[in-house]
Amino acid sequence: MEPLDQKQLDFNEEFYKMIDLMVSPDNYNRERMMEQLFKVARMFRLTKVVSEFYRTVAMEAKGQGEVLSDFDEGPADVRVLYRRYQLDNGVVLKASAYMAEGTRPLDEDEEKKLDICIRSMLNLLSRKRMQATIEMLGYRDQDGYPNFPAFFRYLDEQNITGGFKGYTAMLYNLRQFSLINRDLGHDMGDHIIRTHFEMIKAVVGDRGFLVRVGGDNFAAIFPNEQLDKMIKAMEGLPIVYDKENNRRVMVSACAGVYIIPPDFEYRNQGSIVDMIYPACQTAKLEKEGTIVYASKKSLEKKESLLRVRRHFEEALEKEYFHAFYQPKVDVKTGKIIGAEALCRCIYDGRIVPPAEFIPVLEQNTDICRLDFYMLDHVCKDIRRWLDAGMNVVRVSVNLSRKHLLDVDLLEHLMKVIDKNKVPYKYIEIELTETTTEVEYKKLRRLVEGLREVGISTAVDDFGVGYSSLNLIRELSWNVLKIDRSLLPGVGNDNRKMSNLMFHHIAAMAKDMGLECITEGVETADQVEVLKKNDCPYAQGFFYDKPLPVEEFEERLKKGGYDPA
Ligand code: C2E
Ligand code: MG
Ligand code: MG
Repeated sequence: MEPLDQKQLDFNEEFYKMIDLMVSPDNYNRERMMEQLFKVARMFRLTKVVSEFYRTVAMEAKGQGEVLSDFDEGPADVRVLYRRYQLDNGVVLKASAYMAEGTRPLDEDEEKKLDICIRSMLNLLSRKRMQATIEMLGYRDQDGYPNFPAFFRYLDEQNITGGFKGYTAMLYNLRQFSLINRDLGHDMGDHIIRTHFEMIKAVVGDRGFLVRVGGDNFAAIFPNEQLDKMIKAMEGLPIVYDKENNRRVMVSACAGVYIIPPDFEYRNQGSIVDMIYPACQTAKLEKEGTIVYASKKSLEKKESLLRVRRHFEEALEKEYFHAFYQPKVDVKTGKIIGAEALCRCIYDGRIVPPAEFIPVLEQNTDICRLDFYMLDHVCKDIRRWLDAGMNVVRVSVNLSRKHLLDVDLLEHLMKVIDKNKVPYKYIEIELTETTTEVEYKKLRRLVEGLREVGISTAVDDFGVGYSSLNLIRELSWNVLKIDRSLLPGVGNDNRKMSNLMFHHIAAMAKDMGLECITEGVETADQVEVLKKNDCPYAQGFFYDKPLPVEEFEERLKKGGYDPA
């Protein structure tokens, strides 16, 4: 073998220096590396080196990637080397090296060395880019917003670097954003979300962090000083969407807020998320601009909710759920004309009200199983009363809107009633109003079907939420249940106004041929209001709370209350 000349020795030295720089990440220093790369490229007589990075093959096909022209020192006339690698994770890496026309071509040894060079370069490049890709894929959502994992990471870092003293965490949901999307279009919706995000990010400031956790949900952590401003923003932030005509929308949110206490102990991200998540869920059930503060107490409540879910199966099987009956009364005569079956869970000697378990069960279709259980038990009670020769009244059962997903709902209801041999006239189904077009169609089908077979239907909670007169007019309901919030004398209302409203709703129900009953009647004064306004029926604590079945049977036997 011929001895290497000095030129070649120099070349080799530079070459290995460069490889060394590239393969060991500890040595990595971009400037030094570039310097070295340039040196070597010149020794290879190259004029240009281009490396490309694509996250996927599809992106490569569309030319959507990063093209890095690391070295560019002359005309790139001849391509002397081209490499393309596809990694297991789908990433595509490419590199090309060029020379000017008329330059001495690479010899065999040079070509080998250049190949090693390029491969090492790609290796390094992919490592760096991969980190960025992982960042993009893991810590950003598809629209580029930092996401929940980014929030988690921030919490972990904050725990190490500064702790949470003087910090507040928040999870919030924009109100009625689907309406904005519907009315202004999705592009405008996106624009509004983006603007909102930037505005809130400014409030959160450098010492805080804001992420989007999907759709119109956001999580933030920030110093307590910013809390007032954040609350204000939740109550309503005007966002300009049409500069020319100065059109604005108010974007408000409901939020769960956790003012992190001084004795807070960070075990993991859950220590914070477990506080703001249930608080936000609770806030969502309220009207817009609602802020719910998380506390130890709310955490206990959440734990009890989890317990409900865990024990639901057992509770069904062991019959921990019971139908309580609240009488419905004719206000003029005091006679019991019906009853509503309300669910109670008797557990550990405590009577658990539905507010503590229905919201959990409504998060999936467990609620439907409970409703059928209730219907079955109500039917059994009615059958027993009939068999005992008692004077039986019509009993209403609440059905969650979740049932509307079941296309054979009517058949399923009838099956339970038939199995217990209960005449349909003793059953009434209470349903709340619905908001979406799809639900409306299903609701209509159900209400019509029930009417056809002779099962009575009631609009529950009329007057709260999205009451729509169309819904009342177009569906063939039997009963309208006026919510207690519309009853004059509830809360600090404008008495005259609510008297007027109540009067007209009762009159409307009557004109439409609907039976009208008011819920939540608590005082004799309120009974008078009903009488004066021609609302014939009442249900409420004034007469009785929901009663255990034995007590209700006593009432049934008595037949009613003193009309005075
Ligand atoms: P709802 O159907 O509107 O039932 C009426 C609620 O008002 C009952 O609350 C009842 O106890 C309460 N109430 C009755 N009279 C008065 C009164 O004079 N003053 C006040 N302040 N409240 C009164 P409850 O039993 O806690 O039930 C709450 C809600 O839970 C029900 O509202 C219903 O939506 C739901 N629910 C109860 N049982 C079932 C069930 O078996 N299935 C389904 N899907 N929902 C149920
Ligand atoms: Mg009801
Ligand atoms: Mg109601």
